[in-house]
Amino acid sequence: MAGAEVIGKEEIKEVLEVLETGILIRYNFDVERKGVFKCREFEEAFAKYCGARYALGVTSGSAALKVALMAMDIGPGDEVIVPAFTFLATYEAVMEVGAVPVMADIDTSLCLDPDDIPRKITPYTKAVIPVHMCGAPARIDKIVAVARQHKLLVLEDNAQGCGAGFKGKKLGTFGDMGIFSFDYVKTVTTGEGGMVLTDNKDLADRAEWYHDHGHDHKAAGRAMDGRTILGFNYRMNEIQGALGLAQLRKLDGIIAAQRKNKASIREALKAVKGIGFRDIPDPAGDSATFLAFNLPSEDRAKKFQKALAGQGIDTVRYKDNMWHYVPNWEHFLARSTASSKKYPFNDPGYKGKADYRRENIPQAEDILGRTLVMGIAVKMPEEKIATIKKGIEQAAREL
Ligand SMILES: *Cc1c(COP(=O)(O)O)cnc(C)c1O
Repeated sequence: MAGAEVIGKEEIKEVLEVLETGILIRYNFDVERKGVFKCREFEEAFAKYCGARYALGVTSGSAALKVALMAMDIGPGDEVIVPAFTFLATYEAVMEVGAVPVMADIDTSLCLDPDDIPRKITPYTKAVIPVHMCGAPARIDKIVAVARQHKLLVLEDNAQGCGAGFKGKKLGTFGDMGIFSFDYVKTVTTGEGGMVLTDNKDLADRAEWYHDHGHDHKAAGRAMDGRTILGFNYRMNEIQGALGLAQLRKLDGIIAAQRKNKASIREALKAVKGIGFRDIPDPAGDSATFLAFNLPSEDRAKKFQKALAGQGIDTVRYKDNMWHYVPNWEHFLARSTASSKKYPFNDPGYKGKADYRRENIPQAEDILGRTLVMGIAVKMPEEKIATIKKGIEQAAREL
């Protein structure tokens, strides 16, 4: 739950500063807002924290994906490679811009397997979206290298890895663009919200234009702004910006607390016979929002999950999950888009034939079947950790 657990007087103070001016929109009203620009301040602080040149706040992580794909000029006729293990939004965003997502396999990092990228490339492939799942990095160095080799754009979906890094560099800054989510259950929350990062001025401009009806944000009055490209409205508001500022200041503390809690629980799990842990390409970069471990077989994982549940310890086996694993999305598999024409799958301009059979992702089928994932809270008092440890010991005896 992370950021939501630590909402307090700092958030209240930031939000009050906005309410005192009454200016809830991020643009214009420069006299009335009396110098309060929370979204702009949040973007600047976020870009600095991550080490990126440009940051753009938007209404959600899903919107951030769409805005980034639009900025990268991905659209009808194009294919985008996306791992089979991700939240549905990554696939939906590709379809929102009229392109078709192509499902790729994961590896022991639980993220996109760089070796599967070449196998999934077709003449229509334009980009790849590595997703840093469950708070820890994908093999992002290899993924970017393979993508570059094949001249594909890279958009990092870092909705779940805010503050996490790889070899000293923050996730979301390796690809051409990176996105973050600040929804209520993410590491930093603004209720709903998202961020787009890039170092590329052209992509930053296009994202900014698209997210606000093509406004160039150059005139003193909104009505006088220059028109650029057609866009839509994904503007972050000042209350979100204010919440984001307060939450960002807490991010390193959140991660430190989670790392400590995760380490204690991991220690207890190590005693379980046959246990393995998710392969984290750079453990120092883990934001520790989740602890993922595995057993030698699906049967044993199911059995251990049941035994843990008997001890009041909840885990997720993502092969069963309805929202994070492509083969379980029956509405997606039935091409049930909101359009009766089943756009973009039936777009006459689309020449590919993406298919979503389990046979295409053998490693995901194996790994996600044997893996259990536990959420790590920021606030886990000693007694709670002790109870979990005892529960693990008891469940292991039943295994
Ligand atoms: C949460 C999430 C999103 C979408 O973010 P929202 O802010 O909820 O729209 C996208 N991708 C992944 C991997 C997510 O976990």
